[in-house]
Amino acid sequence: MSEPSQGTVYLVGAGPGDPGLLTLRAARLLAGADTVVYDRLIHPEVLSHARPRARLLFVGKEGGGESVAQEEIHALLIAQARLGRSVVRLKGGDPFVFGRGGEEALALEAAGIPYEVVPGVSSGVAAPAAAGIPVTHRGVSGSVTFATAHRTGPAPDWAHLAGAETLVLFMASGRLESVTHALMAAGRPATQPAAIVEAGTWAHQRVIEATLADIAVRARQEAVGSPALLVVGEVVALRAQLPTLARDAARSEPAETISRGGSGS
Ligand code: SAH
Repeated sequence: MSEPSQGTVYLVGAGPGDPGLLTLRAARLLAGADTVVYDRLIHPEVLSHARPRARLLFVGKEGGGESVAQEEIHALLIAQARLGRSVVRLKGGDPFVFGRGGEEALALEAAGIPYEVVPGVSSGVAAPAAAGIPVTHRGVSGSVTFATAHRTGPAPDWAHLAGAETLVLFMASGRLESVTHALMAAGRPATQPAAIVEAGTWAHQRVIEATLADIAVRARQEAVGSPALLVVGEVVALRAQLPTLARDAARSEPAETISRGGSGS
């Protein structure tokens, strides 16, 4: 926006789902944007912050298949900015946590487009919290490792991941069997508490808790879908002591009572 001829691209985190977890900065930028380029996993209420006349462009990825290639997204952001538009590139969670925000920033940098990054609440922290799992807890876990089960390039370092205190694994749906076996083969005890948080902070959130040995089978029985995170570690057992937080789907009413006075969710 600094130069009349060139717009700015804002790489904005939209949070994990619950529209109440959008940042004020994100809401303000949406309200002023000419173009909003958004992914799947963005709550409709988040999009409702956009200016009524803004162009809303969906480039989402459905279940693994990419509907718009990453390079096309880069080209789109650059082209919109070169038209002098203020562009909000809205991404689930935090843009730099497995969100390919870094790639978009590099592309904008290379093209000489002004850009900013607006952090968001990552599902890696928020979804466990919504399930009653503090990712660190004094005396239980002093560190948390965020990793992805979906990698291009070298295979994950399973020995390293198996040794993590709290392990939060993104993009684990569809790979739970192989992932849990790899962790156990690398030395993680089969009896470790594990949980899957599906659609964390959304009204239809579900939580499945089991041991590391059993969680994949349980997830299959419950037909767990996407998005979901796998959490492994002793912190998962704290859910039992946090029943106020540790609930599944029908969390909407109590959660509203607890968390806010006013802003609808
Ligand atoms: N940038 C995002 C992550 C993008 S990768 C963030 O910071 O949250 C997409 C993966 O994130 C999904 O496969 C899933 O593992 C996880 N995810 C995103 N939203 C989620 C949610 N509401 N509940 C559980 N997992 C979620």
